[in-house]
Amino acid sequence: MIFILKDGSSFSSLKEKIGLSSSSYRLVDIYGKRVVVAWPDENLKGIKDEAVEVKVIPHAKYQLSSKAFKEKTIVKVDQVDIGGEGIVVAAGPCSVEGEDQAIEIAKAVKRSGASLFRGGVFKPRTSPYSFQGMGYEGLKILRKVKEETGLSVVSELMDVREISSFDKHIDMLQVGARNSQNYPLLKELGKIKKPVLLKRGFGNTVEEWILSSEYILLEGNGDVVLCERGIRTFERSTRFTLDVGGIVVAKTLTHLPLCADPSHPAGKKDYVESLALASIAAGADMLLIEVHNNPEKALSDADQQLTIMEFEKLMKKLKSLAIALGRRL
Ligand code: PEP
Ligand code: MN
Repeated sequence: MIFILKDGSSFSSLKEKIGLSSSSYRLVDIYGKRVVVAWPDENLKGIKDEAVEVKVIPHAKYQLSSKAFKEKTIVKVDQVDIGGEGIVVAAGPCSVEGEDQAIEIAKAVKRSGASLFRGGVFKPRTSPYSFQGMGYEGLKILRKVKEETGLSVVSELMDVREISSFDKHIDMLQVGARNSQNYPLLKELGKIKKPVLLKRGFGNTVEEWILSSEYILLEGNGDVVLCERGIRTFERSTRFTLDVGGIVVAKTLTHLPLCADPSHPAGKKDYVESLALASIAAGADMLLIEVHNNPEKALSDADQQLTIMEFEKLMKKLKSLAIALGRRL
């Protein structure tokens, strides 16, 4: 249950009442408000306090991410609004492979209408013998990309020890599918001010994915975008099964913006376009699309990365679809 404190009000009398009810609570400063998240709901029924402006209808599972708490959230990455009327596209190579490569791709995707550049520098590879990413050197390249193109940059971090470097160089921090339930990492990301792109683990339900976002929110960072990237099912004809229904459900349950990554579930570039269009039709606010200047030679995810020309063509279709849906790109 959530209690929103009135401006300038003290928490002390509410704290006493919550204490008497033997409930647990957390005081969180989020979305410009001071709120008290308390649980379990059963103990809290009937609590009234003058300092409390609104008592949110309890939702047993979700608290700060719930639509019962807040109708809509727009996450700002520098000048880019995610979750508003406009659809945001983040594009770039699976892995940053060098400065020239990154800058060439960034300039091209910007020309086609992408507003964020996504490039991986710490790569979560299944095999330790596969290319692991350029690491800290790659972070500096991403900073250079931003200076040269003006595009804000998104990149994945895997370890709490990387947070301060990412905080310095990167504008939106991606948590990948494999770390979607790395709770110590999520909690630390909740303590900084950077927007987080939280992918869904490929073995996670929608509920588990949303609850992962609660870990970040509960520390006070409300700038979280949820990203569907495909789940593992019995189907092998695509790399993962893009859960379009999961996008729809998550959108009805939470106020957080929704992103879809059509590249990883596709696994093959031929499927990316349709999955991207389907995601926008399902209500996604953002897309994450892998684009490479020479996909055949890519050091990771070669089969699913679009060429610069293919991306340009896709963006045209996405723009038409956005207009048909009363949105823009
Ligand atoms: C990626 O975005 O390059 C990536 C590794 O994605 P995921 O965590 O969804 O597998
Ligand atoms: Mn990839």
